[in-house]
Amino acid sequence: MSSQASGGYAARVATLRRTVTDGVTRDLGWRRAQLRALRALVVDHEEELTEAVRADVGKPALEVRVTELSQVVQEIDDLLAHLEEWTAARTVPLPAMLLPGSAEIQLQPKGVVLVIAPWNYPVQLLLNPLAGALAAGNTVLVKPSELTPRVAATLERLVGECLPAEAVQVVTGGVEETTALLTERFDHIFFTGSPRVGRIVMRAAAEHLTPVTLELGGKSPTFVDGTVDPETAARRIAWGKFTNAGQTCIAPDYVLVTQDARDALVAALGEAVTEFFGTDPAASPDYGRILDERQHERLVALLEGAGGDGAAGRVVLGGGHDRADRNYLAPTVVVDPPADCDLMAEEIFGPILPVVTVADADAAIAHIGAHERPLALYVFSDDPRTRRAFEEQTVSGGLAHGAPLIHLTVPGLPFGGVGTSGMGRYLGRASIEELSHHRSVLTKPLRPDTLSVAYPPFPSWKRTVVRRFMAPMSRSVLGSALPARILSGAGTLPRRLLRRP
Ligand code: NAD
Repeated sequence: MSSQASGGYAARVATLRRTVTDGVTRDLGWRRAQLRALRALVVDHEEELTEAVRADVGKPALEVRVTELSQVVQEIDDLLAHLEEWTAARTVPLPAMLLPGSAEIQLQPKGVVLVIAPWNYPVQLLLNPLAGALAAGNTVLVKPSELTPRVAATLERLVGECLPAEAVQVVTGGVEETTALLTERFDHIFFTGSPRVGRIVMRAAAEHLTPVTLELGGKSPTFVDGTVDPETAARRIAWGKFTNAGQTCIAPDYVLVTQDARDALVAALGEAVTEFFGTDPAASPDYGRILDERQHERLVALLEGAGGDGAAGRVVLGGGHDRADRNYLAPTVVVDPPADCDLMAEEIFGPILPVVTVADADAAIAHIGAHERPLALYVFSDDPRTRRAFEEQTVSGGLAHGAPLIHLTVPGLPFGGVGTSGMGRYLGRASIEELSHHRSVLTKPLRPDTLSVAYPPFPSWKRTVVRRFMAPMSRSVLGSALPARILSGAGTLPRRLLRRP
């Protein structure tokens, strides 16, 4: 056990908590300064960060820029541009019975937030929640993945150089360190990773009754029918699937395709892969690699169990792999694998795309409904009724028509899962909502004492007031017996009802 893990992290959490309890973080100027420092950390060290991600995950440099660094800069800019508006108190109208007075919802910093990140987008999945937590006035302890050691070490050093230790601290390490960290009391835990570890985190959080955001994974289905252009659909699906060699939480996990569209789609997927990575993707500088040997072995076993060994499924594209070539696994398409194989049971998280034939959209919707609720669902259909059917009859973290991945990049669209794909949501305003305590604040002047209506004794005139001005105890939903003007707080109670008789 590392000395830090055995010694605990109490002192570091205490330092972070003091900053919040001292009131420093309530100041929007303080929050802006942290966000600007974080922005500078990314912009000024672009090359260093890119090199670290390339070394750990094997991503092409442009992909690092597009899917990691620019995402963080955009997120910070969005938070900075709207900080005042998004953190402002929200006035709530008082019911007539409580006038005069006022009510509002104030957003308060929660306190110390723990951010735990996975390895697949090791920069943005650590820094985006960090930015949101700072914008909401929290101090933050971040824990990068141990599977990206160079990124973790680089971020630990850069955060130490660019941000004050009273605002942000980095803890590196794996299971042992995270287990020790989770014994500390935090005010919110923001976890991104697998559903398995999500359960461990939530169990630990329960000890302190700490709220959690869980950004998890699972199988994200894609539906394609014969109404769409197969070439464009295939290009987009191939891009979504084979970016970062399929190691993306919202990558299309598998395709459900109608019979009439299947052969054209499969042929077009092959063309798209050649267009993107040439005839030998192993030689392409633009194709990524599998993280490590363990993941590589897991993926090869999934492939073999699904038809790579000549069983029911057909490997119609790719299938080649070479552990010696930095865990290479070709962009692969398997048509109609057995329904009960592991490839169709667990999150693939690699460049293997099962294409499963279904009778129609209803069959696809039934298939999706019979499985865990996905993080993302993609629908390729030009038929508005089909699109509407997916919107109304399925549940998923996000739903995108006609394109994978990009819904994550739309400022204003919160990101999060549902069921086993996660709970809570973040990015932009959603981060501030998620990582703030929403305090209800009521202000009631002592004069006149209109609350006297509620004090005993209860003569008949009070019963009249209650009957007329409180929600009626009626079987039918009346909305309200009161005019909207009074309900909205714009009106006042008649004077005779405010006076004690
Ligand atoms: P993981 O769950 O194995 O690890 C995530 C983090 O948890 C790491 O920092 C790790 O150190 C820590 N951890 C691992 N085991 C732990 C334990 N026993 N106790 C405490 N902490 C522990 O996930 P991963 O392999 O890094 O990432 C892949 C998974 O993450 C996939 O399921 C993917 O879908 C999901 N993911 C989700 C999102 C999202 O935004 N929803 C984004 C990326 C990845």
